[in-house]
Amino acid sequence: MQTLFEGGKVFDGEAMRPAGTAVLVEGGKVKKVAPKGEFAGFAGERVDTTGGTLMPGLIDCHVHLCLGGEGDPGTAQLKLSDAQLALKTLERAQVTLKGGTVAVRDCGGRNYIELSVRDAIKRGEFTGPAIRASGRIICMTGGHGNRTGRIADGVDEVVKAVREQIHAGADVIKIMATGGVMTPGVNPEDAHYTREEMAAGLKEARRFHKRSASHAQGAEGILNAVLGGVSSIEHGIFLDEECLKAMLERGTFLVPTLAAVLNIIGNKDKGIPPWAVEKSERVFEVHKRSFQTFYKAGGRIALGTDAGTPFNLHGENALELEYMVDNGMKPLDALKAGTSAAADLCDLPELGALREGQAADFLLVEGDPVADIKMAARRANHRGVFKSGRPATGAPVLAGSLARIEARAAF
Ligand SMILES: [Zn+2]
Repeated sequence: MQTLFEGGKVFDGEAMRPAGTAVLVEGGKVKKVAPKGEFAGFAGERVDTTGGTLMPGLIDCHVHLCLGGEGDPGTAQLKLSDAQLALKTLERAQVTLKGGTVAVRDCGGRNYIELSVRDAIKRGEFTGPAIRASGRIICMTGGHGNRTGRIADGVDEVVKAVREQIHAGADVIKIMATGGVMTPGVNPEDAHYTREEMAAGLKEARRFHKRSASHAQGAEGILNAVLGGVSSIEHGIFLDEECLKAMLERGTFLVPTLAAVLNIIGNKDKGIPPWAVEKSERVFEVHKRSFQTFYKAGGRIALGTDAGTPFNLHGENALELEYMVDNGMKPLDALKAGTSAAADLCDLPELGALREGQAADFLLVEGDPVADIKMAARRANHRGVFKSGRPATGAPVLAGSLARIEARAAF
């Protein structure tokens, strides 16, 4: 079956296409992107995008589907059995898709539950976003993430921990370079793994063709991860000159996750542990400056939210676009960070671009998100989400000439 999306603007993951561009979808993939005149006489199903912009669905490079965004999500999660958590994890994945995010990279789960959810969605048993997942976080004794992570100390043990994640089916290796905000008793500024431990773990990931992500907030830990060859620095709060230079030289991605700290500070009186609030307030100004410096220097940035952390809700992932723009990023660059750049980092070559041969996983928004990022960032301005060319909620596309789809009503 063929469907023609036409009438409105098209953002292809890199740039806005010329006015009058239409998109033909067949078999769940983009068949042709061309001036609408080339489709004269098309008699199949049409989706009228007039007044809106069709764009690739968003990709969030940093979520935790096993965390639910409560005030203290780590503790809330520990109260759930694996069976209960599996159901919640699937529900959160589906809510994420409805919010316009068609793929996520899960940066730390529990007992490989999120890998089973990933596989069930991939097999088509449930609707949901594409999921890339790291399995268990690898951290040192007492390190950030130690409540559900794989604790490993010393080079040999870190290598073994990486092998365990690969054996369990992880797509990416997540390794903790520093302390963090959401674990009591650790400091974001402190390096955790030594340079040798970090390099050994990352080398083992590369041997098996896995990308890597490192939670890295303090400068020493960031540098340890970058020099070890990590694919992306998560958060990157205290980026100094040396880190910046090393990241630019190697093309290391930054996944800023501005939403994480912003949501803690904005909801600090709602049951968030006081030590998490204190640390967030301590680091936020320097985090913003690091993001701005890295962006101005031309560093590679991919969108990530840390969804699942306090009040950082699954389904609201797109808000990170607005946070990045509020902090100095051009809307076009924010849109690239959430589509083509994120697909590059997550190694999802079929997503993140609206081009011939790509998956027809789209977000249709009101207006022009390059002129006003809120059109893509806020769900109220989303008209519909499409997976493989069909409304993600399963609502039927209205047949006939220029029938306007009302996918939003089904949400
Ligand atoms: Zn995280």
